Amino acid sequence: MSPIYNFCAGPAMLPQAVMQKAQKELLDWNGLGTSVMEVSHRSKEFIALTEQAESDLRSLMHIPANYHVLFMHGGGRGQFSAVANNLLGAGGRALYLVDGSWSSAAVTEAKKLAGENNIDTINIIDPSTGKNKVELPDLFKIDKDYRYVHYCPNETVDGIEIFEPLSSPWPVIADMSSNILSRKIDVSQFGLIYAGAQKNIGPSGLSIVIVREDLLSLPNLPQSSIMDYKLAVKHGSMFNTPPTFAWYLAAEVFRWLKEMGGVESLQELNAKKAALLYECIDGSDFYTSGVAVENRSRMNVTFQLVNSELDAEFLEQAKQAGLVALKGHRSVGGMRASLYNAMPIEGVKALVSFMRNFATNHA
Ligand SMILES: *Cc1c(COP(=O)(O)O)cnc(C)c1O
Repeated sequence: MSPIYNFCAGPAMLPQAVMQKAQKELLDWNGLGTSVMEVSHRSKEFIALTEQAESDLRSLMHIPANYHVLFMHGGGRGQFSAVANNLLGAGGRALYLVDGSWSSAAVTEAKKLAGENNIDTINIIDPSTGKNKVELPDLFKIDKDYRYVHYCPNETVDGIEIFEPLSSPWPVIADMSSNILSRKIDVSQFGLIYAGAQKNIGPSGLSIVIVREDLLSLPNLPQSSIMDYKLAVKHGSMFNTPPTFAWYLAAEVFRWLKEMGGVESLQELNAKKAALLYECIDGSDFYTSGVAVENRSRMNVTFQLVNSELDAEFLEQAKQAGLVALKGHRSVGGMRASLYNAMPIEGVKALVSFMRNFATNHA
């Protein structure tokens, strides 16, 4: 069978080596004669797994010692509310930068919890360019006192990525659900980073939170205990039963990333993968991209067929060629190829060659 390349935006493909190891260990993990799903999260074997996972993630991302690493429930959206609940006490205000669907969904949730009037927003897409281009505001010029500024450096649906760092007088909170571990970042520039796991880390449900120690003393809103950062820290992310199988797979993905040469190597490979696809889009008048060159996501490449009447046929033929899940998000249409860490460069080459042939055959 020729390989299937899965371009799904999430839940996304996982590294094949990790899936094979999980398959091999499914019924007998660590010589225990049971699966990892069937052992206590407080057993010494599982605790050892969580310690290894944390230390691997710390070394992959060079996480400073004054940051906690939490493994929580509830995916990316769970953190939309957790961030507001944990960091905004009564009357606390926050600023949200909006550059696409997910940052805008984060605003909706924060307003619901903290009150409409306590959440300010700035749209950071500059409409004058006719393309999706991000213009970061000078936050030092804003004469207000916010608890934090929230933004989404990779908008998964829209294919927009912000590569320049965000300078801010307030702690920066970043939703990195779809670009965590895809390129080097300086964690010390952030107050808190969170990510739903199902794009670049593991199965859905799990979320990773990296939070600077001092943010934990901010006053909070009433909230459920399982989403409380302080309780999560106190209990080693085990206030209640964590999603253990997802945690195990995340640990295996971190191990795989280290074997691959770490984030530095992945960054290089991801840049190459994305460049191949954008070159194909730009080099043809059959395909087009609505995102400004500076903000083209390396993880989620959105593009359109100039003749959208061919969309269905494109998707059908791609599928027959083993290239699946290329349909753009229902809210924006067009196509989207997600090129997370687990996507091998061969998959991108196969897609590019398919796209060239399709264009030629429909010229
Ligand atoms: C997928 C995604 C989310 C939502 O994740 P869920 O686990 O479905 O809640 C949030 N933010 C970004 C940037 C995402 O890509």
